[in-house]
Amino acid sequence: PVRVRMAPSPTGSPHVGLVRTALYNWAFARHHQRHGAGGTFVFRIEDTDKERNTEESYAALIELMHWLGLEWDEGPEVGGPFAPYRQSERSDYYVETLDRLRASSYTYDCYCTNAEVEERRKASGSKVMGYDGFCRELTQDQVEEFEAADRRPVVRFRMPDGTITWNDLVRGEISFETQFVPDFALCRANGDPLYTLVNPVDDAMMEITHVLRGEDLLSSTPRQIALYEALKDLGVAKATPEFGHLPYVMGEGNKKLSKRDPEAHALAYRDQGFLPEGLLNYLALLGWAIAADRDVFSVEEMVDAFEIGDVNPNPARFDLKKCEAINASHMRLLSLDDMTHRVLPHLKAAGVVHDPVSDSDAQLLELAMPLISERINKLSEAPAMLGFLFVDEDSFELDEADAAKLLDEQGKDVVRASLAALEGLATWSTAAIQEALQGALVDGMGLKPRVAFGAVRVAVTGKRISPPLFESMELLGRERSLGRLRRALG
Ligand code: GLU
Repeated sequence: PVRVRMAPSPTGSPHVGLVRTALYNWAFARHHQRHGAGGTFVFRIEDTDKERNTEESYAALIELMHWLGLEWDEGPEVGGPFAPYRQSERSDYYVETLDRLRASSYTYDCYCTNAEVEERRKASGSKVMGYDGFCRELTQDQVEEFEAADRRPVVRFRMPDGTITWNDLVRGEISFETQFVPDFALCRANGDPLYTLVNPVDDAMMEITHVLRGEDLLSSTPRQIALYEALKDLGVAKATPEFGHLPYVMGEGNKKLSKRDPEAHALAYRDQGFLPEGLLNYLALLGWAIAADRDVFSVEEMVDAFEIGDVNPNPARFDLKKCEAINASHMRLLSLDDMTHRVLPHLKAAGVVHDPVSDSDAQLLELAMPLISERINKLSEAPAMLGFLFVDEDSFELDEADAAKLLDEQGKDVVRASLAALEGLATWSTAAIQEALQGALVDGMGLKPRVAFGAVRVAVTGKRISPPLFESMELLGRERSLGRLRRALG
């Protein structure tokens, strides 16, 4: 069975790159659950950096994962055999592991300050950044001298000589010469453990078999593989996991998509009315394809087809237009009931309907949804499309620019003719309204349908863009429709 994890640090607002990583890990685990010997998706919070981590960001991560429907098998809220899953609650493990490493020859105490290291590097003219191994072989006297000077050591890992090679699941064979991988610190001088220690210790303790993560972490892999040898010796790790590094996600100007880019913020997609399945489908495409000629698929289909070896190592370009188009395709796949259910929070947030929804509004919404379901590409477009149906007549307003354009003198003539044609209508139905307006405006006045109905549309719905006009008027009812036509003349 495979065990994978996603291990975000709760800083700032979660990034779409993180969602892509979560999705690939989730799909990998679910694929193995369905088609292999089993798969577990672990959600771990890497919150050891007290300065940068916030509860707000942690809450956003949880909210995001729930919204996306990427349910985890072990982690916050659900627990699991390796609980706790927040690193801030696991310090005892790190302290203990660090003590044991310190008692071994895999590490050494280092008293150097960064400034001293940098000074020596400059003096020697070395191009290798990072630690130079100065404290590797301190004598007892030297140690006593440092201690007497009240210096506190960090614990450094002693990189072995030679080459570290692994078969990356995405990028193939990768090798690092360890002479270019400096000895690294596992904790701060005050004893606080660092990412370099806690990330592999938790992967080991949680028996992670495959580490699938962003390419930005590639340079930490040779260090982790070396540390794993020590962890295996100490009995903390059973085996070194396999690693797969997912391609960079590039934004505008071919620069890495960063937290500064507005399209990087994952929860903003929810607020803007994207469907989680639309966003996930689009992000799946950043490095993977289900077939050469197919862009739209469900996460279930992805689970069946997903192989980590098919992931493309080349940087992927984030394209908001395409993301929107994929989302629109998923909107078309929703049942009316489902879409209604999902549109509701947006209608409430915009004040189009009240919470709780009244019976009459619920009925009207059920009748109105078929008019817009094929026309909206995001859930958040519903309030603007439907507002005219739900608004009180006292509060109904025309869009100023649209009214200025379409309700000019000719527009008002059109509205007058419409009123005359509609006032005596025997039945107020879509077909009857259409026939009456067609007769009066197109046949009678010789207008082009677009011009004729444009004026009526603005008068009745307030806007140039609305659901289909005749259906809308039927739903709005005779009194309200005629009242609005009269007001447009006012
Ligand atoms: N906490 C690390 C990060 O946010 C996770 C690294 C990893 O996946 O190994 O980048």
